[in-house]
Amino acid sequence: MEEQLKKSETLSVVGELAAGIAHEIRNPMTALKGFIQLLEDGIQEDHSMYFNIISSELERIDSIINEFLILSKPQAVKFIRKDITEIMKETVDFLKAQAVLHNVQIQTFFEKELPFIFCEPNQMKKVFINLIKNAIEVMPKGGTVTVRMESALNHTIHISIKDQGAGISKDQIKKLGQPFFTTKEKGTGLGLMVTYKIIEEHKGSIVAESEMGVGSIFHIYLPVYKEK
Ligand code: ADP
Ligand code: MG
Repeated sequence: MEEQLKKSETLSVVGELAAGIAHEIRNPMTALKGFIQLLEDGIQEDHSMYFNIISSELERIDSIINEFLILSKPQAVKFIRKDITEIMKETVDFLKAQAVLHNVQIQTFFEKELPFIFCEPNQMKKVFINLIKNAIEVMPKGGTVTVRMESALNHTIHISIKDQGAGISKDQIKKLGQPFFTTKEKGTGLGLMVTYKIIEEHKGSIVAESEMGVGSIFHIYLPVYKEK
């Protein structure tokens, strides 16, 4: 019974996503058709603006499809006992170049000898990449991203990622994690959906806290690994 319920839930999620992707791709396609029509009519001499818009719309479609391929690819999921500090260090190193380009500094505070967690390291890395990228992207003039990891109550590890960006309004906080919710011109609105899903699969929790004009903090709690 429970299994059946799960299956139909999965199906409706897939259906929702399929409808979403159709919608998301149709919008830029309509725009593309319009611009091609304008080019055909040859009303305007200078075509460079059209080409810019066309290529950025195509890029958008491309990133939506890419994110979907990642989602639908049957990945070998292997949960192991792991030091989360290691995963976070690798992620931060990986994102340093991008941070520097945006004038952003990534500061880390990791409690020493944190307990292990039981996780799928690649998925965990994806979570950290998504959150740190969002933090970088919300500070177009630069700033500091602060990443903390410490042990917390109830045998959990608390991970927080803090930015000094514009903040998230109360209305928008409710929409975080919904597929295709984005306020970015080139956003896909899929990063947080994937992030929330992965945290759920790890029996953890994630919550966003934000103050307009000051910044946001994403808090993650993950259960520590228990020897059986
Ligand atoms: P994308 O980054 O492609 O827009 P995400 O799922 O990663 O998609 O994020 C969805 C939306 O949530 C963003 O467009 C933005 O409006 C909001 N958001 C996420 N992280 C932050 C943040 N750190 N500060 C402000 N807004 C954020
Ligand atoms: Mg994102």
